[in-house]
Amino acid sequence: ARPDAQGLLRGLNPEQLAAVTLPDEPALILAGAGSGKTRVLTTRIAWLLQTGRVSPGGVMAVTFTNKAAKEMLTRLGAMLPVNVRGMWIGTFHGLCNRFLRAHWKAAGLPQSFQILDSGDQLSAVKRVIKAMQLDEERFVPKQVTWFIADAKENGQRPKDVPVRDGQTQTLVQVYQAYEDQCQREGVVDFAELMLRTYELLRDDALLREHYRRRFRHILVDEFQDTNRLQYAWLKMFAGPDTAVLAVGDDDQSIYAFRGAQVGNMADFEREFRVGHLIKLETNYRSSGHILDAANALIAHNSRRLGKTLRTEAGHGEPVRVQENASDFNEAQWLLEEAQQLHRQGLPRREIAVLYRSNAQSRVIESALFNAGIPYRVYGGLRFFERAEIKHALAYLRLIENCHDDTSYLRVVNFPTRGIGARTLEQLQDAARQSGRSLWQSVGAVGGKGGANLIAFNALVDSMRNATLGLTLREIIEHMLQRSGLVDFYRTEKEGTDRIENLEELVNAAEAFVTQEGFGKDAVALPVDEHGPGQIAAPRPGEPPAVAPVDLTPDAETGEIMSPLAAFLTHAALEAGDNQAQAGQDAVQLMTVHSAKGLEFDAVFITGLEEGLFPHENAMSDADGLEEERRLMYVAITRARQRLYLSFSQTRMLHGQTRYNVKSRFLDELPEDGLKWLTPRNQGFGSGFARDYQQAWQRGSGLGSMVGAGRAAPVAPPAPLPRAMAEAQAKAAGHGLRVGQGVFHSKFGEGVIVTLEGAGDDARAQVRFGRHGLKWLALSVAKLTPIE
Ligand code: ATP
Ligand code: MG
Repeated sequence: ARPDAQGLLRGLNPEQLAAVTLPDEPALILAGAGSGKTRVLTTRIAWLLQTGRVSPGGVMAVTFTNKAAKEMLTRLGAMLPVNVRGMWIGTFHGLCNRFLRAHWKAAGLPQSFQILDSGDQLSAVKRVIKAMQLDEERFVPKQVTWFIADAKENGQRPKDVPVRDGQTQTLVQVYQAYEDQCQREGVVDFAELMLRTYELLRDDALLREHYRRRFRHILVDEFQDTNRLQYAWLKMFAGPDTAVLAVGDDDQSIYAFRGAQVGNMADFEREFRVGHLIKLETNYRSSGHILDAANALIAHNSRRLGKTLRTEAGHGEPVRVQENASDFNEAQWLLEEAQQLHRQGLPRREIAVLYRSNAQSRVIESALFNAGIPYRVYGGLRFFERAEIKHALAYLRLIENCHDDTSYLRVVNFPTRGIGARTLEQLQDAARQSGRSLWQSVGAVGGKGGANLIAFNALVDSMRNATLGLTLREIIEHMLQRSGLVDFYRTEKEGTDRIENLEELVNAAEAFVTQEGFGKDAVALPVDEHGPGQIAAPRPGEPPAVAPVDLTPDAETGEIMSPLAAFLTHAALEAGDNQAQAGQDAVQLMTVHSAKGLEFDAVFITGLEEGLFPHENAMSDADGLEEERRLMYVAITRARQRLYLSFSQTRMLHGQTRYNVKSRFLDELPEDGLKWLTPRNQGFGSGFARDYQQAWQRGSGLGSMVGAGRAAPVAPPAPLPRAMAEAQAKAAGHGLRVGQGVFHSKFGEGVIVTLEGAGDDARAQVRFGRHGLKWLALSVAKLTPIE
């Protein structure tokens, strides 16, 4: 049945109705979270079409994410029998791409122009720097990339950039050369998509006129997060007769750090001579206590346009607050709570777990994974699928097995080592012809590339040698430094997140080692024994090597997996497996940033700790803190019925234990709407909290507190004097010693590098010529001394 216009409008409140049925004039909806802004925007499009005021081709709608665009198309499709596929609904970049595909010639692009992602863009900039023979120390490719992006977002071509000094002058030359190169190669970066579209419309009056006539209605959601260029772009598409509807909430502006300008809202009101300023004041999403919490929190911000938000839904459930001893306990608690909700009939997709930083997801993912609960991570990849983690795992795999060609290809030139596509082709050809691994074929490649390949093999060899006998944690730490991964991400604009993830890999390893009961010498002790996360130092005179203690050796060869091998297997499994299948009912995990615009029946906001949320990078100035508070406002207002807030006394983050104080945001919520699930203020007078605060007041911040729980670095094992070694071997009952040559029926000849345990429990780590390092259970493996 074809819904009539009245049907579309049914259920709207008077303000919403007025907004949906506005005359064709510029309008601004300024309203708080959950007040129906997106619903009004979508319904207005449907109403305009339904009543024949405009054809599908006459509407353009801009959303903030692809997900939001898809959702809008789906909703429209459900409301109307029109073909929504041809409609101009999408993100700024998506719409620009569409525009330039249609006008490639006028835009001076080849018909099949390609879009550079940020990785491609960086390597393009590097080539330019090289061609210009500039010093990469002075012109750091990353920074050059930012310079170019900033200029473009300010609408500046090389000739428009004000030159203040010699450095800027050279940067401008690089910018010019980069543009020439992109043009030659027929590629555009993201900012170029916007700028190119903007310029074409600015300079081509006919085309501009065409579009201004075509789009009678332009609707922009999440307007508070537009940047300067996006606003200028909008002004190109909008003529004097275009009805632009901008929809936004200044309290939800959370992208200032990327150049978004809330000021665009005021500019819009003035420049478009907005006659209709609509406020929506009823929140239809959240129950009373949740809304009270959101309102009370955001009232602490000073720079606000000021809005009210109320609900007719009644108080509903109180906001639940949970204190946890550790992040591990937090994950455990929330997974049990989520299971409980699910048993009571709530679909899993109606449960969202929000966190401030991506790295926090690992502990939660791990708990859900172990409990076999399907989950999906939005706006970011699952931990073990993130590029930086895959790079790190590839290095670890090469340390374990240098013939792993996939891992080899993944990192041989990452970070870049002057190994180009040409060299890799030669290498792969040589390997194919001889039937050997890439690793073994490096000798077949000549020239500079060949030399660089040999150097890469040497690097992996040196990592393997240097990590012999180290704990899993130390192996990873060594690899992160030596491979250049950490240094690489340090120079990247959004690399902090990636470095945090890499540090989180160390935690993952640590947790794995503890869970699996590997090596007594590197076990994190339980919280109540020595303080959380404390690492026991090896006993004097004992080698700190970590050996597996409770894995069953292979019946035939006696091989037991090294902790590294076992960890890599675990990582591969966790990456591949219970990511929810498409369409499967799954718990939703995401950062607060990617939760914008969404809603769920039950929401967990985790990690409410000073330094984490609010984030320490933003705590030093008032603007930063207000942006964090807006983020918290976004987080709270995602919940419909049930909201959980949780924090942990201790947290392993970035490879270190942090001792936390609960977030100030918790103190800003109305007391009587909260329900503490754990005794109030437990542990707050504790020494940790006090020390933390003192450290904070000294201005040294978290840096001086974290690491308090870490042991001193462990020195590599010194070889035992031969006589002592022999005595030990005799006592252990196997008669073997470190350094001894041995023969194994399957693995061939090797040298013993570590010996541990005695009797049935005795095990040896042997370096085999062809099979690399292996742990062997001596009760099973037949090792014949060959000296
Ligand atoms: P945000 O600021 O988070 O983006 P929003 O202002 O865009 O929120 P919507 O997502 O459009 O709000 O609406 C929030 C919820 O309220 C949705 O589930 C929507 O369907 C519902 N809603 C909106 N208006 C009404 C109404 N008049 N009657 C009933 N439900 C409504
Ligand atoms: Mg919305």
